[in-house]
Amino acid sequence: MDNNIYDIWGEALKFSEARRAAIGVCRAEPFLDCLPELAAARTPFVRFSPEERIDPALCLPGCKSVIAAAVPVGRIKPPRPDYPHGEFSLLSALRDYHLTVAEFLEDLAGFLGRRLAFSRKIFVDTGNLPEKEVLYRAGLAARGRSGLALSPEFGSRFNAGVMLTDIDFGDAAANQPPENHGFCASCGLCEKSCPTGAIGERFDPYKCVSYLTQKKGALTEAERAAMGANLYGCDACADVCPLNSRQNGGVIATGEIYPSAEAVEDMTRLDKTAFAERYKERVFFYKGIAHFRRNAEIVLRNIRQV
Ligand code: SF4
Ligand code: SF4
Repeated sequence: MDNNIYDIWGEALKFSEARRAAIGVCRAEPFLDCLPELAAARTPFVRFSPEERIDPALCLPGCKSVIAAAVPVGRIKPPRPDYPHGEFSLLSALRDYHLTVAEFLEDLAGFLGRRLAFSRKIFVDTGNLPEKEVLYRAGLAARGRSGLALSPEFGSRFNAGVMLTDIDFGDAAANQPPENHGFCASCGLCEKSCPTGAIGERFDPYKCVSYLTQKKGALTEAERAAMGANLYGCDACADVCPLNSRQNGGVIATGEIYPSAEAVEDMTRLDKTAFAERYKERVFFYKGIAHFRRNAEIVLRNIRQV
């Protein structure tokens, strides 16, 4: 092992800190201990088999390490207004995190590439590995009762991505045990706040409103009602988590997050050009205008019934 690799990793940590992001690294050994849970879980929007999901070498032959990145978003949401309104989750109100996190990881790859030659693959939600498990192993986050990964620095208000590399980071990549590292206070506030009972002994992703807002096709009447005011995503459990209550990270504009009933009605009539102009860098853009208008119609009906 070249001692220089520890210096390079130290510099990479400083590079990330200067960008307000956090990185960690784990060895690219198959995540064998995850297999039973992945095989038992029904996880939406995943196209890999459980066996494929535990193998870092599947997407980068010769892979030796997996770098995890946590890029924070504003922690604090403004209070909900008292007029009838829809609600964008924090992630859907901001620039698409796939772009933001991939840009950060590309910059990090460029930084490392000026110091050593290596191969890499970058994924933000699109790779085979379970990203939360990479975060846990890299020591960046712990499993929260809410089902969200919790970072000691950012709470759950961060986005994650991974970079597979053929760099041997030696002991810098010592794997963390994937169990809870003690960040979650087990206060139960997330469970109490959840409108659909998705949080319990096990998190049920199919009950989660965030999933319902992303689900394609027709929704049942119960699913439509469960969406409430949520246009895309749901922040109820994240908003109450004490780990998200610190004031660093900033507040974003109310109008972006809580559109009035009139604004939601406008969304139901949005044409393709206006949709692209307004939302082309938002996380839901790839779902298309029909999906967006469907959600706006459901939310409009829900908030007018209250
Ligand atoms: S709200 Fe409490 S129990 Fe839920 S994830 Fe946050 S600290 Fe853990
Ligand atoms: S995102 Fe919303 S529906 Fe999903 S677990 Fe959290 S509070 Fe429940």
